[in-house]
Amino acid sequence: MNTALSVEVAVRHLLGERTEGGVVTPRRRTVTWASRQYRLTRPDTGRETVELDCPVCSAALLAEVRDPGTTRRVRLVLGALAVLAVVVLVAALAYAVHEGGRTLPEGESLPVLFPVSLVAVFLGFVSAPALWAGRRNYTGVSLLEAPKPRRGHRIVPVRVPRGRRR
Ligand SMILES: [Zn+2]
Repeated sequence: MNTALSVEVAVRHLLGERTEGGVVTPRRRTVTWASRQYRLTRPDTGRETVELDCPVCSAALLAEVRDPGTTRRVRLVLGALAVLAVVVLVAALAYAVHEGGRTLPEGESLPVLFPVSLVAVFLGFVSAPALWAGRRNYTGVSLLEAPKPRRGHRIVPVRVPRGRRR
């Protein structure tokens, strides 16, 4: 359960990565983790550094916990940026379709804005889902330092099933 003042995260240690198939069957990547859940208390303001132990190698991971206000603001900004990216995507797409579908008089080339709109479509298409996922996953807890291999450690939010949220 995540309340304003506490947050549940899981510390993960990468156990193995295996890639199967790819030739006849579809490629499938299986990643196995061992994890341990922690409940962290948020500071009233600012940030706090906490030490979490890895369940496998018992290494100490340094994590930073943000206060509820900052966490909420970052999530709001990420959400707003995601919406903005969708708006830009739709507008640029409409423009690109409009300009691209026009029959140009001889000797006239497409306006400079046309390639710009194509780039905007691409950027909006890539960034909107990423920003939205970022908003969903942002808990205000970030990994500062992990023992090598750093790649093998992660701090992930613990999802609360809908309905149990309080
Ligand atoms: Zn570990």
